[in-house]
Amino acid sequence: MIFEHLDKYGHEQVVFCHNKDAGLKAIIAIHNTVLGPALGGTRMWPYKSEQDALNDVLRLSRGMTYKNAVAGLNIGGGKAVIIGDPATDKSEALFRAFGQFVESLGGRYITAEDVGIDVNDMEFVYRETEYVTGVHQVHGGSGDPSPFTAYGTLQGLMASLNKKFGDEEVGKYSYAVQGLGHVGIEFVKLLKERGAKIFVTDINKERVDRAVSEYGAEAVGLDEIYDVDADVYSPCALGGTVNEDTLPRLRAKIICGAANNQLANNEIGDEVEKRGMLYAPDYAVNAGGVMNVSLEIDGYNRERAMRMMRTIYHNLTRIFEISERDGIPTYKAADRLAEERIQIIGKLKLPLGRAAPRFQGRVRGH
Ligand code: NAD
Repeated sequence: MIFEHLDKYGHEQVVFCHNKDAGLKAIIAIHNTVLGPALGGTRMWPYKSEQDALNDVLRLSRGMTYKNAVAGLNIGGGKAVIIGDPATDKSEALFRAFGQFVESLGGRYITAEDVGIDVNDMEFVYRETEYVTGVHQVHGGSGDPSPFTAYGTLQGLMASLNKKFGDEEVGKYSYAVQGLGHVGIEFVKLLKERGAKIFVTDINKERVDRAVSEYGAEAVGLDEIYDVDADVYSPCALGGTVNEDTLPRLRAKIICGAANNQLANNEIGDEVEKRGMLYAPDYAVNAGGVMNVSLEIDGYNRERAMRMMRTIYHNLTRIFEISERDGIPTYKAADRLAEERIQIIGKLKLPLGRAAPRFQGRVRGH
């Protein structure tokens, strides 16, 4: 049953990690290391069953392969899940035991933060292994990736505007931004700096107030965001917001935002295309976060990070070209770009040692 699944989706290795004393139950999935060591975050979640945890880690690790490949990184795809409640089950022992398992893979898998995990948890993991990104800046880490993700989203937006309207004048157009968290508010700031008209919504009233008072945005209701007359719909909160109910209401010509898994399913992706809307594939647009942490592998450099974010523009342009070349929706074109890159670059057979982490410049304290 498990091997059947691994066969179907092409995973290389799945590691079940258990330490009774530390209360650790975790699974590390390495999907593909053709381009380089597998990088992807660790998620801590109170999964209802072990099967749910396994399904999640297999799905997420495969997603990382595609995301990292499209981002142009010499990095493969992996992910880890820890079964437990982040509110009650965290301990030093748990994360150190987990770190030992990461270390045992010798750099084939490099971890980072994900849902339920913060920079303090990573400090414990880092005591046991160097194969960690997203550690605190004092250890040579890159800090909060959200401003980079927002800047990367702006690059994806400019490529989308160019494709759809033939210019990149962000300020000429109007935007419906859903979600004003770490990424959303930074994105609003970038839009405002370019003089754009912005509609915003969030379940958190304080965040909405800030967008209105600091960035002159117009607040609309949680459900109203789908009806506003904006050129671009920008999901920056949850996944699945482009669905059967919302799509007929959207008047935007472009869907471009930072949220993960924006399309409820593939059929919706096809429908978006049929309606003549341009969908900027989420994992290509929001790659700023993973690009940023990937730079920790060679020694973090902020300038290099900003430069890297700008490549998102070209990645999106390439996706739109493939979509036209092959007559397929953009969400499929993104997958195709990833698969082509893995195939072609994989043939060059970079010695793994060259792509392997060196983690220079780190001050590693025990
Ligand atoms: P966040 O938790 O800081 O912000 C999410 C915001 O969405 C919050 O303000 C929340 O109140 C709001 N929200 C939740 N449900 C809502 C709803 N129904 N309607 C309106 N607003 C709602 O998260 P974030 O780090 O800003 O990430 C936003 C999205 O971008 C997520 O989907 C995340 O997976 C994705 N993403 C983030 C990064 C990053 O660097 N932080 C990188 C890649 C992808």
